Amino acid sequence: MTQPCPTCDGSGLLVTIDDRGNRFAHECDCRLELRVDRALALSRIPRRYLDCSLSNYETGHSSAHPSLCAAALVAGRFAGAYPLETRGQGILFIGASGLGKTHLAVSILRGLITEKGASGQFWEHKELLDKLRSIYSLRTAGAEDKLLRSVITCDLLVLDDLGDITPSDWSWDTTAYILNARYNENLSTVITTNLANEPPFGTPADEPVSRAEARRMARRETLGDRIGERMRSRVQEMCVTVEMQGKDFRQTIKRASFS
Ligand SMILES: [Zn+2]
Repeated sequence: MTQPCPTCDGSGLLVTIDDRGNRFAHECDCRLELRVDRALALSRIPRRYLDCSLSNYETGHSSAHPSLCAAALVAGRFAGAYPLETRGQGILFIGASGLGKTHLAVSILRGLITEKGASGQFWEHKELLDKLRSIYSLRTAGAEDKLLRSVITCDLLVLDDLGDITPSDWSWDTTAYILNARYNENLSTVITTNLANEPPFGTPADEPVSRAEARRMARRETLGDRIGERMRSRVQEMCVTVEMQGKDFRQTIKRASFS
């Protein structure tokens, strides 16, 4: 059996008496710790990211691209300024895989939960849409609403790998619904993506279809292709954009340690 907290004897409350004999009740640290533990358990942070913090974000090697340090700086400033100065603004981390975008996003989420008493959730974009779709197809009464509501109303949402989905009207509408609802409630969203922050493919009116198709096939898909241009520009509006460049430093470290 767990022992009750020796400070409050398990009541969770402490009473102090001032010089005039007035009594004040306040929460014991053990209750705050319990609340943080619960919020962390509900945050859905993947196990492999559980220890991520801004202090252990490594840019990996001496030749690390300066944009990685700049990204960590923005993340730290955001966490420090939250919530009064951030006022619903979030961060959009853009860059190739392996630059630590998710590490930074999770660090912010963990930091706000443990230090600012915030609530928050981590979702991969695809996983969230798959989950909503499966609940919807099972027609589990209320379950979709419950999940949507918790995603929309938590203090901080981390949406990992934005755009790593098969584009469809449903996925565009659902993503737009979630992000717009959070934006309207002044709730911050931290987003990562490895897609180029560019508009969808457009065809000039006078270009033959075959040439346009060849041009489309030759180019990499963009964020605009995957989430639609309207949502891409909304994301820019609701987030500070942080571009991260450089090589995959996890790979560099891995190679170096086995060579
Ligand atoms: Zn206690």
